[in-house]
Amino acid sequence: MDDPYAPRRPVPITLLPDGTIKQINLLSGTQVWTVPGRGQRPLDVAPTPAKPIEPGTRDALCAFCAECYEQTPPEKARVVREGEHWRTLRGVSPSELHATTAEFRRIANLFEIVGYDYWRANHGVQADAQALAHRDAYLSCPSGREHAFGIAWRRFQAAGGTQSEWDLLPEAERVALTTRFFAGGHDVIVARRHLRDGADTADALASSGSLQVEEHRHYLRFTIEAMADLYAKIPAARYVVAFQNWLKPAGASFDHLHKQLVAIDEFGRQIEAELPKAQADPDLYNALALDYAAREGLVLAENEHAVAFAGFGHRYPTLEVYSRSTHGRPWEASLPEQDAMSDLVHAMHAATGPAIPCNEEWQHQPPSCSTPMPWRIQLKWRISTLAGFEGGSRIYLNTISPGALRDQVLANLMQLREQGRIAPKIALGAECPVAQLRYSRG
Ligand SMILES: [Zn+2]
Repeated sequence: MDDPYAPRRPVPITLLPDGTIKQINLLSGTQVWTVPGRGQRPLDVAPTPAKPIEPGTRDALCAFCAECYEQTPPEKARVVREGEHWRTLRGVSPSELHATTAEFRRIANLFEIVGYDYWRANHGVQADAQALAHRDAYLSCPSGREHAFGIAWRRFQAAGGTQSEWDLLPEAERVALTTRFFAGGHDVIVARRHLRDGADTADALASSGSLQVEEHRHYLRFTIEAMADLYAKIPAARYVVAFQNWLKPAGASFDHLHKQLVAIDEFGRQIEAELPKAQADPDLYNALALDYAAREGLVLAENEHAVAFAGFGHRYPTLEVYSRSTHGRPWEASLPEQDAMSDLVHAMHAATGPAIPCNEEWQHQPPSCSTPMPWRIQLKWRISTLAGFEGGSRIYLNTISPGALRDQVLANLMQLREQGRIAPKIALGAECPVAQLRYSRG
């Protein structure tokens, strides 16, 4: 018999008589309101002025650009394209840096969130033989030495070191200061283009959604390889946080497409909060996310191995993509499963457009965790600023309701499909077969 006084499981989305929409994300506990009237405010995105770029500078607009390989730490790996064939090159020698064009590069973040010294001092992590061999080979070449020492000097200087202190450093210490570039736990995956092909104004930024479908698949695969490599190289890493900050309001230092991977020695609060729930309820992610999204008509797109929907209970308008793979760790998913995720994430970026600042945030099942969790990627539109109301109440105001987000994104997706700009074999909105919109734990 039902106990009338038992606490009821809150409903993720509640529509009040006045039109206010109250949302709660049952995975994270985040509480969000969409208040009528405020939702009609136009998207608060200031267009970048269409300034023409100087002739001959399109590949030298920032440190991530193709002519500026020496302005970033030495690269760990790159993806090159030869016609239809894509290859990963590791340990490219300094003299060969410009012999190929990197479609994607993996480099250490010069100013890491969690640095090499953190892992060394707190966990006794040592660079492995492969990283040291790469470092020594790089430094044995005069141009490589100049490059690596130059970058190490920039970091030394930023930490308050002076030129005379640098000059007095013994050789072995300077070499040691470059080890972080080859063995650290915070990497950046940089895409080739700053601007879209053929564009010659500074506003024509190449975003995730402007990549070709095939290109985006390699972007994702390369990121996944790097994630698996960080787990392998840093056994004390309990989680590798993967994200992409697009444009300055979303925290990007450069307007040049890149993702980041940061190894940490905890699961992070999100996974910690979900873990006991996922242990207790094997159907958690279907019940709280996918089934609910399907029932509320929030599904945006679906393909063989992934589902995308307009998210609910998020501080910012959020598009969510769930892998339906039984493998919750991206690198264990099959290539078709990885590509299916890529295709939907690409479509969501394309439908978002390059002008909206957004964070792409990944969640996956940590290697040391035996509880199945789906691999998910969220795109959060950073179109509003949190203010006093949020700080004082921990209730967030999201100006676009899940339903309004669905309508806007779905219309864009339909148009993109007509233009052939998203992957084929994606069902949109009402075309999605509801029975397939579930995640299977295997
Ligand atoms: Zn650039």
